[in-house]
Amino acid sequence: MSADFQFAGSEPSYPRLFSPCQVGGVSIANRLVMGAMHTGLERLDRSEERIRAFYRARAEGGAGLIITGGVSPNREGRLDAEAPYLEGGRDEAWHRAIVQAVQGTESVICMQLLHAGRYARLPECVGPTDRKAPINPYTPTALSNEDVWRTVEDFARSAQIAHALGYHGVEIMASEGYLINQFTAKATNDRSDEFGGSLDARTKLACEVVKAIRQCVPQDFLVIYRISAVDLVPDGMTGEETRYLAALVERAGASMLNTGIGWHESKVPTIAAPVPRAVWSYAIRQLKDAVTIPVIASNRINDPAVAEGLLSEGVADFVSMARPLLADPCFPAKARANRSASIATCIACNQACLDHALTGGRVSCMINPMAGYEIERIRVPAVVRKRIAVVGGGAAGINFAFQAASRGHNVTLFEAGKELGGQLLMAREVPGKSEFNEALRYFKQRLIEEDVTVHLDHPCTADELASGGYDDIVIATGVTSRKPAIPGIDDPRVLSYIDVLKHRKVVGKAVAIIGAGGIGFDVAEFLLEARSHQADAGEFVQEYGLDLSLRSAGGLEERPTPSTPLRQITLMQRRNGKPAGIASAVSTRWIHRGRLERANVKMLGGVEYQGIEAAGLVITVDGEERTIAADSIIICAGQEPVRALYEALIAQLPAKRVHLIGGAQEARELDATRAIEQATALALAI
Ligand code: NAP
Ligand code: SF4
Repeated sequence: MSADFQFAGSEPSYPRLFSPCQVGGVSIANRLVMGAMHTGLERLDRSEERIRAFYRARAEGGAGLIITGGVSPNREGRLDAEAPYLEGGRDEAWHRAIVQAVQGTESVICMQLLHAGRYARLPECVGPTDRKAPINPYTPTALSNEDVWRTVEDFARSAQIAHALGYHGVEIMASEGYLINQFTAKATNDRSDEFGGSLDARTKLACEVVKAIRQCVPQDFLVIYRISAVDLVPDGMTGEETRYLAALVERAGASMLNTGIGWHESKVPTIAAPVPRAVWSYAIRQLKDAVTIPVIASNRINDPAVAEGLLSEGVADFVSMARPLLADPCFPAKARANRSASIATCIACNQACLDHALTGGRVSCMINPMAGYEIERIRVPAVVRKRIAVVGGGAAGINFAFQAASRGHNVTLFEAGKELGGQLLMAREVPGKSEFNEALRYFKQRLIEEDVTVHLDHPCTADELASGGYDDIVIATGVTSRKPAIPGIDDPRVLSYIDVLKHRKVVGKAVAIIGAGGIGFDVAEFLLEARSHQADAGEFVQEYGLDLSLRSAGGLEERPTPSTPLRQITLMQRRNGKPAGIASAVSTRWIHRGRLERANVKMLGGVEYQGIEAAGLVITVDGEERTIAADSIIICAGQEPVRALYEALIAQLPAKRVHLIGGAQEARELDATRAIEQATALALAI
């Protein structure tokens, strides 16, 4: 077991999740699959030590089956120029390190074979036709019939290599709109040869790949087919077609079906926080009815009780969690030992994982900054045990406190308010962000486990801290909202985002929002809806026009039903161009922007604020003066650091004993990821 966690007892808390299973002669210790994820480590330096440590942590944490990040069966199928592919004995040592990672544990590991097809960010990308993907600047070359057969051979050869390297199986990535999925859907396949046109022709590549692999590997080598349970694109497959494909794939020799949801170009979010947990079970269940091989459920399953529910309701035989095992490699072991409260739950923010993967960075986790840094961010017991005071119970202060305490320091945390959480207390009020409650639950649990003394409702003075006998003092006093110098800013119609999200001050029907960063977007979403809780499945289905019967192509109704916005909102920024949300949130900002656009939020860039007058907010855009009639004007214009206590302390104590972290240190572009990462780094070093 991991050094971080030991089983408390032998009786598993979730009996179905922790029941073993034999699949095609392979013993799998439990039903928890770690789904494939790009780690970014392959782009960094291909350090074998690093990748081994990454998978080792997840294997020791108890995942029954691990699927690696995608490896292309040939050069043209790479996701991009730096992505891994299997030709000419490439990366053999790297793969052997991955296989070694699970040795001596109960985990089984499979290599994912991913041919990106027209999603490859390469000028030489290929596809069923030369139709360009809307999310790729490159136009693919249509594969010739001969090329398609060569691709089948490449898949088979790659599976043989994976077997020789010691993997227990392969997963054929045939969902999310990658090459094989591009062949199965009419949307991207109007070929006239044996691989296009009729359903049998469109599904032929899928079957040939499975058959070719099955013929060249032993029976006890897992061949997992990741099927698109619902395409969520116009002219995608219907449910009937998907079930037909599933049965064909089983007959061709697949050992298991994993499920993927939606294509990357789909306009429906599939894994981000606004997606309700386990909402895709309707699409997964249909597959369970179509095949006799085990089915793996995936997407927005981040909680052991939800996973157990899917298994007990017969939706699937296994449950896949990818990001949740970034957030907590010991998720399986903790769940099994009935210690779910100690799980660092993935809050589906994508901020440190997918957003990094999509921009070529190293994948990590907001909640768990050790992810992806297993050989760098190591917790060792403190040589000298210190008495440390931490001031500020937001993300930075809390994370510093429990991480430092876990090294043996004696830590006392002071929070001026009545509750721990800081900015997170507001974030959780935004529709679709209720998963932040899980982050708070986990952080508080860690404070308890590490014996941190917490004083709430306790504003500290510099004298009290300086005379308190502390070896070190960590100031994490956070931020305050910026009040821009606009004439009339003290008008009673003006509110800060804190007034709205925290103090729930009354907001009128016509709203002007000054500032269109992350918080401006959040406040707009908050004000558009009558709820601040997680959307339930019914609301989500309605919002995005999902066809639960799966009779329509791609599983989409012709027109989603828009909800009626509660308010008329104008969202503004001084920068030119239409507000686009948080620049770094590449995988989620389109979701938030789409919601605001559907609710007719007016978004203005290049705004100069002239003043607040009786008629509303007076602005100039392109030299033209306009008045935004507003009965509430909400300031979301960024933050300023709160440093008064820090400054008073360094006047009294040696600077090296006083540390400044989080928003108090740098408020610009602050987010929880940076605050937690910085707090963790200091806690590991102090
Ligand atoms: P922010 O993203 O920096 O946005 C501040 C906004 O205020 C900008 O639109 C800026 O645009 C405007 N502004 C700045 N100074 C102004 C001034 N003096 N007068 C008028 N407008 C001014 O800050 P934030 O929205 O407060 O968010 C804080 C941090 O939390 C950000 O780093 C953000 O990424 C993060 N966050 C993340 C999420 C998430 O879901 N990941 C959600 C919320 C917040 P102009 O300067 O062009 O006017
Ligand atoms: Fe989950 Fe966010 Fe961590 Fe990604 S960064 S694994 S989405 S909590």
